[in-house]
Amino acid sequence: MRCSNILMYHNISNGFDFSFRSISKDLLKKHIKSLYGNKIRFFTNEDIAQNTIFDGKDAVLITFDDAYEGVYNYALPVMEKYGVIGAVFIPAGYIGKFNSWDFSPFRGLKHMDKNMLINLSKKGWIIGSHGFNHVDLRKCSDKALKMEICDSKKLLEDLLGKRISLFAYPFGLYNKKVMDMVAECGYDYAFATATGIKRNRFAIRRMAVYFIDRSPLPLLNKKYCHMYLLRNRIVASFASLTPLYKRLFGIGKVQCQ
Ligand SMILES: [Zn+2]
Repeated sequence: MRCSNILMYHNISNGFDFSFRSISKDLLKKHIKSLYGNKIRFFTNEDIAQNTIFDGKDAVLITFDDAYEGVYNYALPVMEKYGVIGAVFIPAGYIGKFNSWDFSPFRGLKHMDKNMLINLSKKGWIIGSHGFNHVDLRKCSDKALKMEICDSKKLLEDLLGKRISLFAYPFGLYNKKVMDMVAECGYDYAFATATGIKRNRFAIRRMAVYFIDRSPLPLLNKKYCHMYLLRNRIVASFASLTPLYKRLFGIGKVQCQ
């Protein structure tokens, strides 16, 4: 039994990038190599399509939140080499645009455009929804919540010509109402972060991977579970404060209406 079967990355950069949301392509390569070398199986597209990722299979899924261009440019070639697919979660309102919600003095990262998402999907990668505007979904009105969760699914399905079955909560924030809407909109699974519950299909726990992690193996190991969950909850709590910073400084739109 693992701490979690799902790894969560954000951006992949060309070189070293001192940011909690990026790791370099060389480090990602090292991670894939060590998983591969330890004979860890990876979930396939069929596992997802057949809705069997909780049927006791010991496999790992690599996920990338926010669908940044860096994932397309640098993660795709590395993972293709090892025959591994990933899952990316795109905020549907940010396709081809720059990130505007992260609290950073630097220019935001760019999200994949339509063609990149179509190409990834054709290569067997899983495209999931990350809502529409990357907002704290717990703060949404019923109407806005439906738009964030159901309409983003529809938009991606029209774009890719495929059923979208996965959702990831922006900032990992959710409550019962948000989970119920995910089920109502017809998703099979929804991913949280360290705040997730291991065996709840609408709040799946994921282990965030940072540039300080030289290997992903300890993150998956039950022995170190509490330590990494605590670390990841601390980092996530800073990320979830982003809407508050934004409100204080009056930048960007991160509040759900
Ligand atoms: Zn995100």
